[in-house]
Amino acid sequence: MWSRFALGELNCLVISDGQPEPPWEPPLETFFTPDSGVPEQELREAVAREGTGRATLTAAYNCLCVETPGGLAVIDTGLGRSFLGYGPYLSPLVGHFTERLGEAGYSASDLTAVVFTHLHEDHSRGAVWSGEPTFPEATAFAHTAEVAFWTDSVASSLPGLERGAALEAIRLFGERLHPVEYGVEILPRLRTVDAAGHTPGHTAVLLESRGERLLCVGDSFYDPLQLRHPGWRTPWDLDAERSVRSRRRILEWAADENLLVHAYHLPFPGLGRVRRYGDAFEWQTVRP
Ligand SMILES: [Zn+2]
Repeated sequence: MWSRFALGELNCLVISDGQPEPPWEPPLETFFTPDSGVPEQELREAVAREGTGRATLTAAYNCLCVETPGGLAVIDTGLGRSFLGYGPYLSPLVGHFTERLGEAGYSASDLTAVVFTHLHEDHSRGAVWSGEPTFPEATAFAHTAEVAFWTDSVASSLPGLERGAALEAIRLFGERLHPVEYGVEILPRLRTVDAAGHTPGHTAVLLESRGERLLCVGDSFYDPLQLRHPGWRTPWDLDAERSVRSRRRILEWAADENLLVHAYHLPFPGLGRVRRYGDAFEWQTVRP
């Protein structure tokens, strides 16, 4: 499953690493919990207002490839073929990025750059799952604070599963992993944007070509419900307050500038636009 589109002079390609299907889609209540600031009643009322009656969200894994003037780049790499801790039922449904890259006409060695929005397993493990670099020619980029966090002793209190993929990416890329700051053009037409909070170095990526712009938001939100309720956090937002501030800032910018948006976990291909809705927002899917 992949989808091509052009952004100005940039050829882009969203490749699905996978997408859980019923009955394996995760329950909404595992993402939006009372502990993460979403009382059960508030969640029920929000779903009722939505009019869908759904009990789950999609939690897709959409990897965005971009043919930059400097070579083929991918933003986030999926789960790989040997992921940790998701349960065997999910195994056939995910980890397809590399094989679908091949079906789309590229080889793993065509990738010259991997940009990590952050180093959670579902974004980084596709690059390192076998214990060897999946993309042997690629250099990698992640925010300085992201690299520091996962190597720091603070993170050592997190479960090993959560740290494993991040540390493996840091180890395997070695000197080919470039720590970067926000507001920097890391590759031609690709600029980093502050989206910190989900993780300490969580990074959005702005693509711009010939006046057309796309904002790749990583895990700034998991579900369209979070646009109607930007204050809703998830158990995976490491700094809850900061993640809410970043989500609002990114949604306001996307809405006011009418940016095309790529959301990693929304249903394939995860493309849409953000509209103002009262003092919140709503998601409008775009089909390329
Ligand atoms: Zn994620």
